[in-house]
Amino acid sequence: MADALIYDLDFEELVQALNELGQPLFRARQIWSGLYEHLYDDFSQFSNIPSNLRTALAQRYTLSPLSPRASLHSKDRLTEKTLFGLHDNLSVETVLMRYEERNSLCISTQVGCPMGCVFCATGQMGYQRGLSTGEILAQVIHYMRHLQTEGKKLTNIVYMGMGEPFLNYDATMASLRRLTDSTGMNFGARRITISTVGIIPKIEKFSRESLQVNLAVSLHSADNELRSQIVPANRIYPLKNLISACRAYTELTHRRISFEYALIKDLNDTQPAAAQLAGLLKGMLCHVNLIALNPSKAYPLQGSSKEKVQAFADALAERGIPVTVRLRRGIEIQAGCGQLASSQNPL
Ligand code: SAH
Ligand code: SF4
Repeated sequence: MADALIYDLDFEELVQALNELGQPLFRARQIWSGLYEHLYDDFSQFSNIPSNLRTALAQRYTLSPLSPRASLHSKDRLTEKTLFGLHDNLSVETVLMRYEERNSLCISTQVGCPMGCVFCATGQMGYQRGLSTGEILAQVIHYMRHLQTEGKKLTNIVYMGMGEPFLNYDATMASLRRLTDSTGMNFGARRITISTVGIIPKIEKFSRESLQVNLAVSLHSADNELRSQIVPANRIYPLKNLISACRAYTELTHRRISFEYALIKDLNDTQPAAAQLAGLLKGMLCHVNLIALNPSKAYPLQGSSKEKVQAFADALAERGIPVTVRLRRGIEIQAGCGQLASSQNPL
């Protein structure tokens, strides 16, 4: 039983679990604070809790549900990827990117992904299962502890690892609530970004959650047919409807949407493609993030050259679309966007 995930419990569930152990409400508060403010990794650290309760908790719950199986560092040591084993022997990957002023963590929400984007290593491996709330959170907690030992702090979290967060909606929302809970981790919602391939009903639902979390939508083409070829989800949620849902989101929340666009050589990186994208997004409260496609095993096309990326960015900027070019990070350790696909999962 010791592998039940204490991070799967929300506060009410923790109160209930402690109630069953004959414990009063204030114990739940103390444990909550130990879990989410102090990030204790052993029940012996809960010094304000009687030892028999610590033992009872340790018999039931683990504080380290993820077993790091391997960690890889990029040559410049700025990007670090960890492969975490899960209780059922599957695994997921998490990536830490260090910048001068910030430390950003890219977390996974599913083992594999059913959406099958052709250029994405996670899509290429198929789908196993969604992560639980606790498994999503444990990736963050692991790296917060890790940075703490260096006297550093995690500053940003992006839901851009393995999987489609909006296909694991409830666990993803619960993890966001836990991260931003002012009585616990108190992580700033504005420093969290959640990325979706464009699951329209969930974009609509998300816009009503009243969260200050940033939303990114992976576009990759402003041409409906081309998008259907490279992002199969577009056949179910076509571009026109997706863009309407995005406009509605910005109008309801007054929040800017980021559009992710991976530039693929001679496919979606031309000047006409840039003009078409600018037309599609005209007047929307948005921002485009460009990145040259990262390599993946089962996709033969290449990322665009630096010059092509810059020319595409210039074409958008000239048309009044705010745009940034993202640097590729950790490619040599397969930690770049869409490169996460653990070879450890039995398929
Ligand atoms: N499923 C979500 C989030 C995970 S993917 C989504 O698709 O948005 C995170 C980002 O990496 C997405 O923008 C995705 O399109 C992008 N991506 C996937 N494969 C890539 C690759 N080979 N090169 C660059 N970006 C890639
Ligand atoms: Fe899934 Fe996102 Fe990869 Fe598409 S890009 S297969 S939605 S993880």
